Amino acid sequence: MVERILANLKQSNVNTDNTFLQAVSEVLSSLEPIVRSDPRYERYAILERLVTPDRVIQFKVQWVDDQSRVHINNGYRIQFNNSLGPYKGGLRFHPSVDTGILKFLAFEQIFKNSLTGLPIGGAKGGSDFDPKGKSDFEIMKFCRAFMRELYQYIGARVDVPAGDIGVGAREIGYLYGEYKRITRNYDGVLSGKPYEFGGSLMRPQATGYGVVYFAAEMLSQELQETLEGKTCCVSGAGNVALHTIEKLQQMGALVVTCSDSEGTIYDPRGIDLCVVRELKGNGARASLEGYATRVPGSVYTAKADYPAGGHAAWHYPCFAAFPCATQNELSRTDAAKLIENGCVAVVEGANMPTEPDAIELLQREGVLFSPGKASNAGGVAVSEFEMSQNASMEKWDYDKVDRKLQELMAQIYKRVSLTAKEYGCERNFVDGANIAAFKRVAEAMILEGV
Ligand code: NDP
Repeated sequence: MVERILANLKQSNVNTDNTFLQAVSEVLSSLEPIVRSDPRYERYAILERLVTPDRVIQFKVQWVDDQSRVHINNGYRIQFNNSLGPYKGGLRFHPSVDTGILKFLAFEQIFKNSLTGLPIGGAKGGSDFDPKGKSDFEIMKFCRAFMRELYQYIGARVDVPAGDIGVGAREIGYLYGEYKRITRNYDGVLSGKPYEFGGSLMRPQATGYGVVYFAAEMLSQELQETLEGKTCCVSGAGNVALHTIEKLQQMGALVVTCSDSEGTIYDPRGIDLCVVRELKGNGARASLEGYATRVPGSVYTAKADYPAGGHAAWHYPCFAAFPCATQNELSRTDAAKLIENGCVAVVEGANMPTEPDAIELLQREGVLFSPGKASNAGGVAVSEFEMSQNASMEKWDYDKVDRKLQELMAQIYKRVSLTAKEYGCERNFVDGANIAAFKRVAEAMILEGV
């Protein structure tokens, strides 16, 4: 059945980026045993329905830059599945955005949101707009133009977008401002809002902190290990990477790498977050090359000089690796190098950053591997906490959000590892995550009828 569904999907997605097929293929191969064990899944065509989005919305975004030139970008929202709750998932602004990438992200989001145990469905959206080099006013004008189209498809109980690559609190603020101007509704239609008007404390930190809480739980349960005093490699220098580094450092780890789309920094004395934030913070998008000129002893490797078929961040010895930038950034070559250097765990902060053959190698060699849909679910979980706070007009304090986040990441780890054991694939957290997430969504899809 799985083969047939994949073949059909390939035929109907010939013109899109293949990350969607990669994501579906990974999930469906985990599900084969469970689908065979329960005839209801076939009777209700659960797999076919699950791989088909409810709707793919595309719209034109027209805006005017600071030199009064008119620009047109594509805007998208993919509402994939709302069986568990309102559609929920981030907006990505990056030139690579198209329906293929967004379908992959929205599909993954269904499973991630299910793993949280919270009432949220799966969606994703964004635009091929490139925020790099744009002034603050241009970003504002683009966000307003984007929302003028998007507002009609979203709602606090319908679809609640958040941030992703290229969309942080600043962009969410502009998007929300425009939504309010159009609708006059001060509701929780976006999450990741600035704290000043309805945002939750800790939302900016939540994904990265959650990644480290998950890693700490996994290492403690599986290896009776902690992160204290351990060398870690991280990729990325955006929201997820910076907060992953920050929490790792708070737990006493030594983080020696970070990266951006142009190159990688290695700092054997530990990444200095103040320097990275000066280069990248508040919408500044300067190259990380500036780090090496400011911090003696650090080394910058430009992307053109990366090892063949690999990424510089994964070629330094480390105890644990945290890919936190983008999809498919850790190859089989990188996995082999990590294993050779004694790495014991790879914990994904980004969505699908590890290529399938790299995952297979890591798992075969006994490296603990956590898929992003499990370890990076802290961001969407705190987004749901923000929706709860908005609905009840409450403001939770920092400690309450942090405590709930830690509990939730530990629960996700437990859910994933117990499911893996139950289905005879102990320590395979990919299968554990896919099966646990699937069971919850599939049950809801059966109960709500066709
Ligand atoms: P940001 O835009 O804040 O940062 C992205 C980082 O990745 C930047 O350092 C960027 O470099 C780098 N990057 C982007 N594209 C590429 C590329 N093609 N090749 C190499 N480097 C690249 O995004 P986030 O930190 O929010 O997101 C990072 C990942 O985490 C994504 O996979 C996202 O889907 C996932 N994620 C994010 C969540 C969130 O709450 N924000 C929640 C769950 C998952 P540069 O500075 O040069 O642009």
